[in-house]
Amino acid sequence: VPELPEVETIRRALAPRLTGRAITDVQVALEAPKLVQTPIETFTRELIGRRITGLDRRGKYLILRLDDGRFLVLHLRMTGRLLHRRPDDPPEPYQRACFRLDDGTELRFADLRKFGTMWLTDDLSTVVGRLGPEPFDEAFTAERLAELAARRTAPIKSFLLDQYAIAGLGNIYADEALHAASIHPRRPARSLDSAEVARLHAAIRSVLVRAVGFRGSSFRDYVDPEGAAGENQRHVRVFRRTGEPCHTCGAAIERVKVGGRSTHFCPRCQPERP
Ligand SMILES: [Zn+2]
Repeated sequence: VPELPEVETIRRALAPRLTGRAITDVQVALEAPKLVQTPIETFTRELIGRRITGLDRRGKYLILRLDDGRFLVLHLRMTGRLLHRRPDDPPEPYQRACFRLDDGTELRFADLRKFGTMWLTDDLSTVVGRLGPEPFDEAFTAERLAELAARRTAPIKSFLLDQYAIAGLGNIYADEALHAASIHPRRPARSLDSAEVARLHAAIRSVLVRAVGFRGSSFRDYVDPEGAAGENQRHVRVFRRTGEPCHTCGAAIERVKVGGRSTHFCPRCQPERP
């Protein structure tokens, strides 16, 4: 499932290729009726002829800025892939949409599970307005994280997954950040003391920076716009390492469910009662 590092890798790869290009045709597959959150005729008609002026990211959302002041927003959800191809490249399995560009290339949206979504909007806040702070934003300080966590009785793992609390973290990087901060995933968010919050704040950023450096994690579906896998899955400390030795202390990594989500942690580095 693409999280912040994967979407950021896609954004960085696509930005130089898409910026300045005009959209000459749009095709959306009929078997993906929920893909487009805008009436489909409007979506297609109003995108054709638009020029892409830049690419942004907010949490796990990719945002294409258009020359008429509007935005094409994409969310890949579970299995979405964005691929930048030439027309004679082989078709993508499960292709759901295709944007033809004026340099002859194609931006293809492929999605096995069909949970991916796209919006055409002039008001970004209608799509991403309720998201929590961006982990790399200056305003996201340890003090801000402490304020957000202090209101929450939920387990810290669930808090980290809540996009309205902090934007961009999913199952991989929430587990990795908690291990890096030596915090048990079931600890109530508001039980963390200021030293723990400071460690977690630093861990969130370092885990994400590292994952962007490795161009994301490819455990199953994620690939970059050229179809290449990321490298970060080889460098994780706990995620999907159940039974393997902790790189820090040697104890066997355990897996539990927290808030219904598989959660990986080291019972020695991350004790429930510190
Ligand atoms: Zn350990």
